[in-house]
Amino acid sequence: MPQTELQRSGFMPARVIHLHPSRFCNLACKHCYSASGPQERLHLPPAQVIAALEVLRGEGYDVLSLSGGEPTLYSGFEQIVRSAASLGFQVNLISNGAPIGGHLLDVIAQYVHLTAISLDGAPATHNEMRGTARAFDYVERAVERLSALKLQFGFSYCVSRKSLADMPWAYEFAASAGAKLLQFHPFAATGRGSQMAEDNTLSSADFARLYVLSKLLEAHKQLAVQLDIAPVELIRDLRGDYLVLSADYVSDLSLGDMVSPLVIDETGMMYPFSYGIDPRLAIAKVDANLRAAIMAYKVAGWHRLRLLLDRAFAALDSYNGEFIDWFYHLVETSRTLDFSLSSESILLPDSLYYE
Ligand code: SF4
Repeated sequence: MPQTELQRSGFMPARVIHLHPSRFCNLACKHCYSASGPQERLHLPPAQVIAALEVLRGEGYDVLSLSGGEPTLYSGFEQIVRSAASLGFQVNLISNGAPIGGHLLDVIAQYVHLTAISLDGAPATHNEMRGTARAFDYVERAVERLSALKLQFGFSYCVSRKSLADMPWAYEFAASAGAKLLQFHPFAATGRGSQMAEDNTLSSADFARLYVLSKLLEAHKQLAVQLDIAPVELIRDLRGDYLVLSADYVSDLSLGDMVSPLVIDETGMMYPFSYGIDPRLAIAKVDANLRAAIMAYKVAGWHRLRLLLDRAFAALDSYNGEFIDWFYHLVETSRTLDFSLSSESILLPDSLYYE
């Protein structure tokens, strides 16, 4: 499949799992979308995750992206990346950089395709967002260590109102460090980020600036640039890529054909598309009954997915702005759904969902 602009903006050709095995983190960033931090202890048993990955590989998923929390501090990290790689997953990682060193570098070298280090702006802005004056030092040290071993790395850059102007700096920094990828994703007012939405959320004019700046930087071709917003018109044209919107039944489809990215959170629940989506859209729980739960989803649960997508595309007609963060739009739309008005809701086995 050719790599179009939209595929890079979210409609990915690969079938991706975003695994958040724990919300434990050495930092407690002010904007953390998952409200992770040093006090969080809830985590998934590694054996449970590995069993689920076997099932999900059979459902067509081929990329595993680990985040969290800080995924390298998760007790099952090595076990999971080793098992995922042996199942044939391409394993990627998003880290704040602080733990990267020592034995972890050997594990990354053996099993991880690309390590993305998170960045929130030039050093002062980054440190302020991360709540510690050492945060940028961690980034530089991780980059030095990954570079010394010639391991592939990139940056995942959060574009807020404060860091928008630092985008050219980020490109220079990434290019001179030898990064392969620079991902620009807009600040999302979820998790702890919801408490700082006013000062950081991008306006529709900022979205246009982000789009233009990213295209100008991409033209330098020193590294790949991924942009997580797209023109509304382009999103609208890709409605047909969602097979659940046109299928009469989906039992012949793999889950990977229906839902990508697939999110697994620290409670073991699987959700479509994005962390923070309404719990009523849950697909299944990662446990011993996963195969049966996925089958049940393909019989009945997928109607909720269709309703979400249908409403999200319909809302584009009144969308205010030329550019959109499609996955955040799906999160917001999921919270407005009223399943009591949907005839499909009577088909759903209640045990599969949180209400
Ligand atoms: S944003 Fe990342 S580094 Fe910061 S607290 Fe959340 S998980 Fe940890």
